[in-house]
Amino acid sequence: MLKDQDRIFTNLYGMHDRSLAGAKKRGHWNGTADLIKLGRDKLVEIVKASGLRGRGGAGFPTGLKWSFMPKQSDGRPSYLVINADESEPGTCKDREIMRHDPHTLIEGALIASFAMGANTCYIYIRGEYIREREALQAAIDECYEAGLLGKNAAKSGWDFDLYLHHGAGAYICGEETALLESLEGKKGMPRMKPPFPAGSGLYGCPTTVNNVESIAVVPTILRRGADWFASFGRPNNAGTKLFGISGHVNNPCVVEEAMSIPLKELLERHCGGVRGGWKNLKAVIPGGSSVPLLTQAQCDDALMDFDWLREQRSGLGTAAVIVMDNSTDVIKAIWRLSKFYKHESCGQCTPCREGTGWMMRVMDRLVRGEAEVEEIDMLLSVTKQVEGHTICALGDAAAWPIQGLVRAFREEIEDRIKAKKTGRMGALAAE
Ligand code: SF4
Repeated sequence: MLKDQDRIFTNLYGMHDRSLAGAKKRGHWNGTADLIKLGRDKLVEIVKASGLRGRGGAGFPTGLKWSFMPKQSDGRPSYLVINADESEPGTCKDREIMRHDPHTLIEGALIASFAMGANTCYIYIRGEYIREREALQAAIDECYEAGLLGKNAAKSGWDFDLYLHHGAGAYICGEETALLESLEGKKGMPRMKPPFPAGSGLYGCPTTVNNVESIAVVPTILRRGADWFASFGRPNNAGTKLFGISGHVNNPCVVEEAMSIPLKELLERHCGGVRGGWKNLKAVIPGGSSVPLLTQAQCDDALMDFDWLREQRSGLGTAAVIVMDNSTDVIKAIWRLSKFYKHESCGQCTPCREGTGWMMRVMDRLVRGEAEVEEIDMLLSVTKQVEGHTICALGDAAAWPIQGLVRAFREEIEDRIKAKKTGRMGALAAE
């Protein structure tokens, strides 16, 4: 279990003093200029050594991503863009940082921007996050007033401007290239890659897009050392991590824990356990709506990290843990996600535009048991035609939860179809 003194986001727990003075008391903005004076190469080296992997879902090594930015300017400016569009169902961890600990993010933005040669950073915040953007803007204003942003930011010798940009509610704008399109004032549609943003991103200039949590942990990693951060979690799965737990637990919460914590320990220590006890657990989506669910048997041994969950054909994703007890109609739960992805598809590529509709319509009939058993395999075949055949990962995100459902609950789906045919549907629902 993570000790209190090893938590980075201490202001999430009851204190809620998000002012600059409060942040300074907790150690933020302490010697920021000295950290910057370590130099670009050293900063990237420390972040690489810490083992930090991107906290937005993909888990790409953060230091390595930073190293893709050009060392020498060719006349184009470089940008850091922070993805605060947090729209994945079940996910609300970045919201907590922006609400309660905005200075960790702003200080991280300054240091990370310097490490990538960027004098400008944009934070792209989800349109619905109104209180969060107010908190963040107030913190940014405080920093400008205190000389921590702007010319010679924090007396580091680096000029740095930070802008907050409000999204307008489209899930797809959390995809990094759709986000850049939106930031440029265009319709938020993903771009083909390559070129990758480090070569040609915002306004055709070198750009790195990082998640809020990935940037907000950086100042503490630099202060406490790469080894300290790397000491948590299993190899290749380092660090502390925010987990957002929702659904059928006694106390849903967002909590910072060590990476690789057993799922059972996470739920019992911080959430008061599963409603009705562990035996009442039916399934868990461990990483936001885009990853396949885990069955009760898998949950018994589950470790909450990238590699363990990937080996189980699931994923850590955004570490949004959605808990479902035995009262859950799991087919309906996944149907609801299908509906979401159908709605949020930008429609740009055919497999996703048409496939999400197909998947949703078949799921719709499976929920009601009004399908043929053979259609389960047909549905799987549609998911395979979408997966890996689209411009961005939304197609995969729509396909994977359905694949996970069929893998784990095929019998339940078949039983429902048979019950409908024999008129036992009502009795089955009551069981
Ligand atoms: Fe748009 Fe879907 Fe294609 Fe992504 S996969 S670009 S959301 S149509």
